[in-house]
Amino acid sequence: MKLPFVLARRFVAGETLDKTLPVVDRLLADGLFVTLDLLGEHVDDRQAAEAYTHDYVDLVQRLAHRRGGGDANISIKLSMIGQVIDHDFCVANLKRLLTVARQTHTFVRLDMEDGDLTQSTINILEEVHPDFGNYVGVVLQAYLKRTERDVERMCELKARVRLCKGAYREPPELAHQDMVTIREQFRQYMRMLLLHARYPGIATHDDELINATKAFATEAAIDPNDFEFQMLYGIRAETQRNLVAEGYNMRVYVPYGTQWLPYFSRRLRERKENVGFLVKNLLRK
Ligand SMILES: Cc1cc2nc3c(=O)[nH]c(=O)nc-3n(C[C@H](O)[C@H](O)[C@H](O)COP(=O)(O)OP(=O)(O)OC[C@H]3O[C@@H](n4cnc5c(N)ncnc54)[C@H](O)[C@@H]3O)c2cc1C
Repeated sequence: MKLPFVLARRFVAGETLDKTLPVVDRLLADGLFVTLDLLGEHVDDRQAAEAYTHDYVDLVQRLAHRRGGGDANISIKLSMIGQVIDHDFCVANLKRLLTVARQTHTFVRLDMEDGDLTQSTINILEEVHPDFGNYVGVVLQAYLKRTERDVERMCELKARVRLCKGAYREPPELAHQDMVTIREQFRQYMRMLLLHARYPGIATHDDELINATKAFATEAAIDPNDFEFQMLYGIRAETQRNLVAEGYNMRVYVPYGTQWLPYFSRRLRERKENVGFLVKNLLRK
C-alpha cells in the first residue's frame, strides 16, 4: 500500500529531485548549507543497488550544476548501494560515486544505519579514505557504547565526522538507553572532534548540546568556520536561521524520494508531539 505523501511533507522535501531542488535553492539563499538525501535503505538486489548508485551519481552531477556558490553536498546510505549484498561490490559502487564527487568537488557523507552495519561502514570508510579523504566522511552515534574508539580512530585519520545521538532501536548491550548518559557521551565526543578531527558536523536539535558546543568552541578558541551545526529539514527552522545569524555554519539535511516511510517513522518515534501534528494536518485536509 502506498501512503499519501501529504503525511510526510513536513520532514521530506519532495518525492522527486525536481520538486526538491527549489527547496534547496531557498535554503542556500538563506545562507544555510544543505545535504541532500535520496531516501531508501537495505537493498538486497544487485540491479537495484546499481540503479541507486546511478541515481546518486546523477544527483551529484545535477547538484554541481545547480548549487551556484552555495554549499550543497549529499548523504548516502551504503545499504542502498550493496553493503548488505557484498563488500567488494559496495566498495566498487562507492568508488564510482566518489570519483564523480571528486571531479565535481562534492562531499559525500556516509550515513550510519543500525548496529549490524556499524563495523562494515567504518571498514568501508577506512578503505576509501586514503584516495577520497577530502570527499567522504562518516557519521558516529553517541548512543553506541563502541563510539569512543571510533571517534579516536576518526581523529587519527583526520576524517570528517557527523556526530549525532543515534536514531535506531538498539539493545542495551550495544547502546546506552538513557538520555543523560547519551548527552554526556555526545558532549565528550563533540569536544574530541572539535579539537582533533577535520571540520566536524554537530548534528542535533537539542539546545543543551548546541549551547555546550558553542561554549566549548569559544573556550578552546575554535573558529566557527572549523565546524558546522546540522539539523533535519522541517525541524527547528527558526533556530537554524538564528545560528546562521550568529555566525555559525548550519547545514540542513534534506531528504527526498518516494521511499520516505522508514525515515518518517523514525521522526515520529523521536517525538510524540509529531504524531499530534500529523493528526491535526490530516484533519485539516
Ligand atoms: C543532520 C542530521 C543527520 C542525522 N544522521 C543520522 C544518521 O546518519 N544516523 C542516525 O542514527 N541518526 C541520524 N540523525 C538522527 C539523530 O541520531 C537523532 O535521532 C535526532 O537528531 C534526534 O536527536 P536530537 O539530538 O536532535 O535531540 P532530541 O533530544 O531528540 O530533541 C531535542 C529537541 O529538538 C527538537 N526535535 C528533535 N527531534 C525532533 C523531531 N523528530 N521532530 C520535531 N522536533 C524535534 C525538539 O524541540 C526536541 O525537544 C541525524 C540527525 C541530524 C540532525
